[in-house]
Amino acid sequence: MSNVWEEALFNLEKAAKVMNMKPDILERLSKPMRFTEFTIPVRMDDGTRKVFTAYRSNHQDATGPTKDGTRVKPDLTPEEIKALSLFMSIKHGTVNIPAGGGKGGIKADPSHISEGEYERLIRGFIRKLRPKGAWTDVPGADIGTGKQAMAWMLDEYEQITGEHCPAAINDKPAVLGIGGSKGGFEATGRGVARCTLEATRAMGMKPQKSSVVIQGFGQVGSITAKTLYDQGFKILAVSDIKGAVFNNSGLDIDSLLDHVQATGFVSGYPGGETKDGKGLLETECDILIPAAVQDVITAENAPRLNTRLIVEAANAPTTPEADQILEERNIRVIPDVLANAGGCLVCDLERIQGLSGDYWEEERVYEQLDKRMMKAYGETERVMKEKDISMRTAVWVNALEKITEAMEIRGWS
Ligand code: NAD
Repeated sequence: MSNVWEEALFNLEKAAKVMNMKPDILERLSKPMRFTEFTIPVRMDDGTRKVFTAYRSNHQDATGPTKDGTRVKPDLTPEEIKALSLFMSIKHGTVNIPAGGGKGGIKADPSHISEGEYERLIRGFIRKLRPKGAWTDVPGADIGTGKQAMAWMLDEYEQITGEHCPAAINDKPAVLGIGGSKGGFEATGRGVARCTLEATRAMGMKPQKSSVVIQGFGQVGSITAKTLYDQGFKILAVSDIKGAVFNNSGLDIDSLLDHVQATGFVSGYPGGETKDGKGLLETECDILIPAAVQDVITAENAPRLNTRLIVEAANAPTTPEADQILEERNIRVIPDVLANAGGCLVCDLERIQGLSGDYWEEERVYEQLDKRMMKAYGETERVMKEKDISMRTAVWVNALEKITEAMEIRGWS
């Protein structure tokens, strides 16, 4: 498939066929409800003005205000933003968040501009973005944006409107008056671990007897590893961009985290054998968790994977061609839109806290996160069994059933 938008449409059409979706609804969902391209003029440090291109895609708002991330990257394309907004509709539907799908971005390289230029660019995005607001369209963070950028977005929004409204922006710092939620850093990894636990239960696997291999030991990979380790899983190997460490008796994740804290990388960890990360995905294990980058499981290596379960912590780690091979080989795949939805769930909890003014301790956030991930996993597994389809198609069918129900009941079809 040539681009990510075609890939999104492929999944949509596959699910639509299973559901016997009405043609007019499919047509509506096959395009963003609104797609805008706009420019942001920025005063550069040398006194010149540079004009940056920005996009915002609102896929559908039958299920609530459109929500989610803002990418800042030099090779950003409109197709990428459109596709990601459709994925967000599916992700929100999957984990029962009353929100539509949104995604935005700015074509720029944050590493090639100063901090002051970056701040003016981010504030410019909010000034030029319309419509926006807590009940309309809510931007969050993504590649090239983080908590500081979101705090600037909120400040700019509040300067324009003249009122405090923390629910208008997501992924903010958990600082008094800024309205972020505790538990945001851990949310995605914790959700991945929760899905893994639910899947192993459903497959009759015991944590103490299940071995895990994880590619990527950053925010998501390390929290997933630590959460599974604490549940008794044997973490056989983990890798990062520089290399991998293996231990057939299981890695001690607490001391590995200390090693990474001290050195920046997993390589050289004394409690395991350091190797290059090339063959990592093909290591014999019960559970394989890609938690680094996209397109790492391909038609080339899928026939050689030696695992029972793949939990997609990274976005789009499996190509559609590889997916077909894994289905034929009866390897269960928990797709990214379900497995890594923990971050979206905590964004929803952040919004609930922002709207109510009642801010929670981490324990309450985790309790809600775990409960809602379990519910989403259970619903998806039920659809998979009832319709005898792959878990990836089941995720789409489950979410689209909710979206189309909202569209129908609003009288849109
Ligand atoms: P991160 O930058 O914190 O960590 C990425 C890790 O992957 C690092 O350990 C890095 O060294 C490693 N890595 C990079 N390229 C690699 C390669 N080619 N081979 C092996 N390891 C490699 O990123 P993150 O926030 O942990 O995100 C990881 C993945 O999860 C990404 O695909 C991201 O889109 C997805 N994701 C993240 C979140 C989130 O909340 N952070 C939410 C949803 C999805």
